[in-house]
Amino acid sequence: MELNVLPLTQPKPRPTDETKLIFGRDFTDRMFVMEFDRDKGWHSARIQSYQPFTLDPAALVLHYAQEIFEGLKAFRRPDGRIALFRPADNMTRFNRSARRMCMPEVDENFLLHAIKELVRLDADWVPHSEGTSLYIRPTMIATEPVLGVKPADQYLCYVILSPVAAYYKGGVAPVKIWISDKYVRAAAGGTGEAKTGGNYAASLYASTEAAERGFDQVLWLDAEQRRYVEEVGSMNICFLYDGKVVTSPLKGTILDGITRRSVLTLIRELGLEIEERALSVDEIIEGAATGRLKEAFGTGTAAVVSPVGQFTYRDQTVTVGDGNTGELTMKLYQTLTGIQYGKIADRHNWVDVL
Ligand SMILES: *Cc1c(COP(=O)(O)O)cnc(C)c1O
Repeated sequence: MELNVLPLTQPKPRPTDETKLIFGRDFTDRMFVMEFDRDKGWHSARIQSYQPFTLDPAALVLHYAQEIFEGLKAFRRPDGRIALFRPADNMTRFNRSARRMCMPEVDENFLLHAIKELVRLDADWVPHSEGTSLYIRPTMIATEPVLGVKPADQYLCYVILSPVAAYYKGGVAPVKIWISDKYVRAAAGGTGEAKTGGNYAASLYASTEAAERGFDQVLWLDAEQRRYVEEVGSMNICFLYDGKVVTSPLKGTILDGITRRSVLTLIRELGLEIEERALSVDEIIEGAATGRLKEAFGTGTAAVVSPVGQFTYRDQTVTVGDGNTGELTMKLYQTLTGIQYGKIADRHNWVDVL
């Protein structure tokens, strides 16, 4: 398929202060768009000025949430070049989500090529300051205007770019997590493994309640017994428990995080044992009290690694370790960001330099 680059008709003013860039609020000059029709397949691939879409009010996505997305980042390296982190993995996951939501798959190589071209064209939007990046959001929505519940025959796939400030302004800081015993995110057989908007819509009620009580994130337990750890907000979670790293297995209810995957590789290389099993909430509470639970951290593209300082379950609050960022957590954060920003050798071929 041909990628058309249309002239930029609506250039925007550049944000002036890179330290004040807010995640997902500012977008760059351009966007990638392609369209799908059941009889034509994907077509009309183009890079054009960032602009609103015209959607029919009956568009299926607006009623039945047939939608998927991805999230990855571009990093500015010391030599000025721009790198993506494991972008091919995001393309593969995009197609996996598409299959689960009965949406058409894309040509992974073509979409990655289009993303690289888009980032190249908007390269001066990739910020330079320490810890900043360009967030890349591939998205697919069902556009067919019909109110019948069925997989749509028309779709839009698009990619938008948003420059973001450093996630941690004052250094890596631990978060307070609320363990929900009432609400669940995903049940076995559901869509927990797909990166689809509906999972997030379903999480808002609990995360709002958590925020009102002063917590940063919600930790989800399994839907059946509400006893075993699944994941946190938009992150996977790892525990340093009894000297081993414990993380929930990929059984269909949690997202197969690329940061999770990368961190597990690094942990293995550090010589630590990994147990892919769901830790129970009792193990968290008991482990924090006895010291068996030394560290806990979330993993995801936005925060990279996010240390957990406290867990609250029902009316009980426990502190992990001494409440500060643990040694392993810090080491993983530094190694991963070091590789992403080109300060540490990329021995795994994770980095795709433009
Ligand atoms: C995207 C996402 C993650 C993290 O995945 P990464 O590939 O590491 O960014 C974890 N959980 C959920 C629910 C997500 O949507």
